[in-house]
Amino acid sequence: MNIAIDGPAGAGKSTVAKMLAKELGFIYVDTGAMYRAAALYFLMNDIDVSDETAVARACELTDVSIRFRENEQQVLLNGDNVNGKIRREEVGNMASAISVFPVVRQKLTALQQKLAASEDVVMDGRDIGTCVLPNAEVKIYLTASVTARAKRRYQELLERGESCNLEEIQKDISDRDYRDMHRDASPLKQADDAVFVDSSELTLEETAEAVRTVCQEKLSCG
Ligand code: C5P
Repeated sequence: MNIAIDGPAGAGKSTVAKMLAKELGFIYVDTGAMYRAAALYFLMNDIDVSDETAVARACELTDVSIRFRENEQQVLLNGDNVNGKIRREEVGNMASAISVFPVVRQKLTALQQKLAASEDVVMDGRDIGTCVLPNAEVKIYLTASVTARAKRRYQELLERGESCNLEEIQKDISDRDYRDMHRDASPLKQADDAVFVDSSELTLEETAEAVRTVCQEKLSCG
């Protein structure tokens, strides 16, 4: 049984997917973390993303894998757990920049499909319902306005004690949305059979409830 949740950054996908996976006893798979781990390699090794040959070479040297410890996903980059290093804005922006390359996507897509074939998963990302798991039993497209997502991100960073600027965050989010939605390779878009949920005016609990309801309806029909 597979549940696919796609949508832009900051719509609440990961929190909701994690909650749902726990309730259902499924494994939560965060595919963005895999792209972030690959991005970390590119940042650490100063790879020029405008040079396709350098990107392809870097991909050969980038081994991303995941393992689960007490139901928590750990992402390994060339054997090292990099969970603590991939949440910075810089890494998210690099993930978005390299995810346009089919050579980057192929390896990660194969890893995601293999996982979903052997486990019940709630998987979140950008292309899960459209490309990675086209036959998922439940597909949800979870989104929110750029303003709502930027405000959430701003609050999150403030709570972590990081200095930040709301306008810059909003611009980063818009740029990232544009890149993710307009790339040729598996762009972010709602799958034809996905249910649309807008969390702009919802609390996290209300969003989770909306997603839960969709899952219950879909699963009881199946
Ligand atoms: O979800 P998260 O913000 O961690 O993802 C980081 C970036 O990785 C996204 O902006 C997107 O460009 C890329 N990504 C992707 N396909 C996925 C998951 C993430 O292209 N399935």
